Amino acid sequence: MKRKKRVVKIGGIKIGGKNQVVVQSMTKTKTHNIKATVQQIKRLEKAGCEIVRVAVVDKKDSAVLNRLRKAVKVPLVADIHFDYRLAIQAIDAGIDKIRINPGNIGESWKIAQIIEKAKDSGIPIRVGVNSGSLPKKILNKYKHPTPEAIVETVNDSLAIFEKKRFENLVVSAKGADVMTTIAVYKRLYRLFDYPLHLGITEAGLPFRGGLRSAVGLGILLAQSIGDTIRVSLTADPVMEVVAAYEILDSLGLRQHNPVLISCPTCGRCDIKLDRIVNEVERRLKRYNNYMKVAVMGCVVNGPGEAKEADFGIACGKRTGLIFAKGEEVKRVREDLLVSELFEVIDENIDN
Ligand code: SF4
Repeated sequence: MKRKKRVVKIGGIKIGGKNQVVVQSMTKTKTHNIKATVQQIKRLEKAGCEIVRVAVVDKKDSAVLNRLRKAVKVPLVADIHFDYRLAIQAIDAGIDKIRINPGNIGESWKIAQIIEKAKDSGIPIRVGVNSGSLPKKILNKYKHPTPEAIVETVNDSLAIFEKKRFENLVVSAKGADVMTTIAVYKRLYRLFDYPLHLGITEAGLPFRGGLRSAVGLGILLAQSIGDTIRVSLTADPVMEVVAAYEILDSLGLRQHNPVLISCPTCGRCDIKLDRIVNEVERRLKRYNNYMKVAVMGCVVNGPGEAKEADFGIACGKRTGLIFAKGEEVKRVREDLLVSELFEVIDENIDN
């Protein structure tokens, strides 16, 4: 029988067990540029990001971690490769978690030092394995970074930690493509009870990357696999957070910020719906409450959909109906639809 999932604490945030799926992202600034990094983290916090990872590339980066830790509230993770001393410095600076790939840290005594330090400070470690950096002996055995090869690498990495009785761990392992990543996580879920950090690597620009992440993460999350997610995009990291919440909302796992739904339009639409939708989306950015807002193009499906949402517009010919909480509230002219919709929203919510 599968054991109960462990819970790991990163600052004030719990992941694993029955806790909700946590949204995280990573800064794209040079970490030692403290002004730019703090600014980006604050924007991420405002967007609802619950854990932020920063790259710690060298001593210049590790030297600012303490100031960074004091400047923001959100739990911070130091992402470290190659140099075990950076991990030690990050822990000394008060970081909330570190992420390492044991495969590139080197000799086992170096990993042992990180483990001892993390143990003393009570912080968790994420063991992250990537298909691009599997050990030679594994690649010789499997020839390619197959799901089996990746899972065996994770298993070998975890054995080092378990030998030292360190179990304050989060695990991630990514394949080169979506299907490999899905196969890997399904195995990890069956084999281990550590919280799983999900992500699709090198996902791409927002449209393609968002879709690839939605497919990969969606399939896993729908099977209750995954405790924290990062949507990787070649874009402003705030978009990663927005995309993550869209994925979680569509699976019914988290409700965060307003959700705008709109119809694709068709030959029945007699109104410039794209203009209305864009304006509604722009104005919704000011709201932090969860609410569903539907903007529909005609009277066929419009009233039904608009009634199901918290607020809605069902357009007709140069006019539209406004709905609130399932009730038709008023009929207004096309040019007044958006302003009247927001008047109704403001009357009905505590913002
Ligand atoms: Fe077409 Fe009306 Fe459906 Fe929009 S709501 S897609 S305009 S039928």
